[in-house]
Amino acid sequence: MATVTQTPDLHGHFGPYGGMFVPETLMSALHDLAAEYERAKTDPAFQDELAALLRDFAGRPTPLYLAERLTNRLGGPKIYLKREDLLHTGAHKINNALGQILLAQRMGKRRIIAETGAGQHGVATATVAARFGCECVIYMGKVDMERQGLNVARMKFLGAKVVPVTAGQATLKEAINEAMRDWVTNVRTTHYILGSVLGSHPYPMMVRDFQSVIGLEARRQILEREERLPDLLVACVGGGSNAIGLFHPFLDDRNVRMVGVEAGGEGIRTGKHAARFQGGRLGVLQGTKTFLLANEEGQIELTHSVSAGLDYAAVGPEHSYLRDVGRIEYTYATDDEALNAFKFLSETEGIIPALETAHAIAYLVKQAPKMKREEIVIVNCSGRGDKDVDQAARHFGLKEKSK
Ligand SMILES: *Cc1c(COP(=O)(O)O)cnc(C)c1O
Repeated sequence: MATVTQTPDLHGHFGPYGGMFVPETLMSALHDLAAEYERAKTDPAFQDELAALLRDFAGRPTPLYLAERLTNRLGGPKIYLKREDLLHTGAHKINNALGQILLAQRMGKRRIIAETGAGQHGVATATVAARFGCECVIYMGKVDMERQGLNVARMKFLGAKVVPVTAGQATLKEAINEAMRDWVTNVRTTHYILGSVLGSHPYPMMVRDFQSVIGLEARRQILEREERLPDLLVACVGGGSNAIGLFHPFLDDRNVRMVGVEAGGEGIRTGKHAARFQGGRLGVLQGTKTFLLANEEGQIELTHSVSAGLDYAAVGPEHSYLRDVGRIEYTYATDDEALNAFKFLSETEGIIPALETAHAIAYLVKQAPKMKREEIVIVNCSGRGDKDVDQAARHFGLKEKSK
């Protein structure tokens, strides 16, 4: 039997999920991208250049930090944080953006476009575009632009054009639609740096591979520190790139449990959430077949999360597959739980996490007291919370509510 790590197949299928559900006009660009990526993967010059950029520009390897006070407060297992929040631009997104801009250079594409939700991927993309002197256009929902003003300003300073998208819910899904429309029109000169393990093949595979550096490092680091593998890995799941990046190098280690934490918003029963595995269904969205939040007619439902980076109707196809085969478990944390975890980690460890990351911490707060002291947990600290301080301050009444 094939192991779960031998996916996807040549056409991007993870079991029944994934694939290439795109307009005809994009097929040749996607095939070119897949072919270029296959060549790059085995080209030492590409791998060396990427490794040097990850080290000297982005700040890898990131530390695996023993969170002692958090461990003591929760009274359960030993807790390690994989510190992706310490990376340049403040989150794991830069790992993927660097890999993809190098591919774009190899393909001779000097115009870069991307979508962004929280703005972290937009900032990472604008950063690598500036580093390589490329023209850069970022599509962002107008609602997200309002809640993430700091990141909008950062992208502009980095020389990117930020295009507000007002259609529909004016968040991430609509921004991806606009970016895809741009790509169809300008595909010969333009590379689309997709920000998570979503979209058509080869993106879910390629983004996973670029993010797997997280898990490869964490595996080496924990073996060095503890001389054994962890019992549990925890990560938040928007599209699922930071989670699969940590999990993938451990998939064949049968004794390592893995939990992905989705956005429970205001609660599953209210319908105001973005937890695709709680009441979601099989469908096709933006190039891929996967679990998504849609009604019986297949229309995409409105999603909600306090965290813009988790507020999306579909989850990466590999996650749907790994859930079906029982390798990864998925749960959710609500807005309130995440906000409390945001405050808790800040006070306990001196680390202000992104609100996305705070969902993983919220799960840990519930789970750790049920675990044994000799167990070991690694939580992916996917990003830092500077961008969210304003929003959290308003929630906790440290600042007047503006709306
Ligand atoms: C974008 C983002 C996420 C969600 O995206 P994934 O692809 O699920 O990782 C999580 N954490 C942070 C800090 C982010 O910026």
